[in-house]
Amino acid sequence: MVTGGAGYIGAHACKALRKAGFVPVTYDNLVTGWQDAVKFGPFEKGDLLDRTRLDEVFAKYEPVAVMHFAALSQVGESMSQPGRYWRNNVGGSLNLIEAAVDAACMNFVFSSTCATYGDQDNVVLDENSDQYPINAYGASKRAIEDILRDFEAAHGLRHVIYRYFNVAGADPEGEVGEFHQPETHLIPLMLDAIDGKRDALTIFGTDYDTPDGTCIRDYVHVCDLVDAHVLGLKWLQDGKGSRVFNLGTGCGFSVREVIDQSRAVTNRAVPINEGARRAGDATKLVSGSSRAKAELGWKPDRSNLNTMIADAWRWHQTGHFDK
Ligand code: UDP
Repeated sequence: MVTGGAGYIGAHACKALRKAGFVPVTYDNLVTGWQDAVKFGPFEKGDLLDRTRLDEVFAKYEPVAVMHFAALSQVGESMSQPGRYWRNNVGGSLNLIEAAVDAACMNFVFSSTCATYGDQDNVVLDENSDQYPINAYGASKRAIEDILRDFEAAHGLRHVIYRYFNVAGADPEGEVGEFHQPETHLIPLMLDAIDGKRDALTIFGTDYDTPDGTCIRDYVHVCDLVDAHVLGLKWLQDGKGSRVFNLGTGCGFSVREVIDQSRAVTNRAVPINEGARRAGDATKLVSGSSRAKAELGWKPDRSNLNTMIADAWRWHQTGHFDK
C-alpha cells in the first residue's frame, strides 16, 4: 500500500515496485497528487484522516507492507500554516499506523527528511545526529519517527525510516516526473524560468555563511531514492530489524551551483533575482553517511547533478499530469 502514490516520489516508487514484482496499491486524496500519475497498480482515493476508508482498503488488499509517502512537504508553507502540517502529517500518519497494526500489516517504510536535523553548522549529519528541526515540516516528520518507535515497542511494527535529502530528477523513460501545482522547489522553478513559464527564479538568501552566500543542499535522484525503498521493503521481508537510513550522496551544492549546472545542461540563460531568506531554511544539509550503501547495497548511480537536471529538463519539456 503506497500512500501518496499519485505524488512525485510515490509515483516513481510505484513504478519501481511494479518492476520488482509487487502490486503497488495507491492510497491518495489527490489534494497535491494526480490521478494520471497512478499507472502501475490500483488506485484507491482516500484521506489519511479517514480511518474508515483506511480500514476498507487494508481489508480489500491485505497488503504485505505500507510505504508512506503522503504528506504536506513544503518548508515555507509549514512555517505559515503549522496546524495543517501537524494535523495532516502527524494526525494522518497516526491513523495510518494504527490501521496498519489493526490489519496485522507489520512492515512499514516511512519517508522522513533531513529537515529533522535542523541547522547544524559543520556537523556531519549521520543517522545518529541529534534532531533539532527548525521548521514545522521537519518537526512533524520527527514526531512520526517517534510514533513508529513506540508502535514497534508496543505492537512489533517493524519499520525502515528514510531521511531524504533533496530529491530531484525524473523517470528517464518519461512515464512520471515532478509536477507540483503550485511549484515551490528549486530545480523545477528554475526550469520554468529557463523556458519562460515564469519571469525569473528568486534566490532565497545570498547572505548565508557559505562560500557563495547561498544555501547548500545534497541532491539525490528520485529513481535512486525509490530503489532504496524497494531494498528497504526486502530488508523488512527478510526479517531484518527496524532501521534509519539517510538518503543523500554526501555532496553538497549551493543554489548558485545548481543554477550554473542548469545553464550548462540546457544551454540557456537562467533569469534570476536575488531575494530575502525563506523562513525555516537551514544553511547547509548534506548527508554524512554511507549506511544505506553499506547495509542495503544501495547504488545511487543517477545522483549526479548533471543527470538529475538533464532528466528533469526532459520531463519538464514533455510531461505533465491532470487530476
Ligand atoms: N530555493 C530558492 N528559490 C526558490 C526555491 C528554493 O533559492 O524559488 C532554495 C531554498 O532556499 C533551498 C534550496 O533552494 O535552499 C532547495 O529548496 P527546495 O524548496 O527545492 O527544497 P527544500 O530544501 O526546502 O526541501
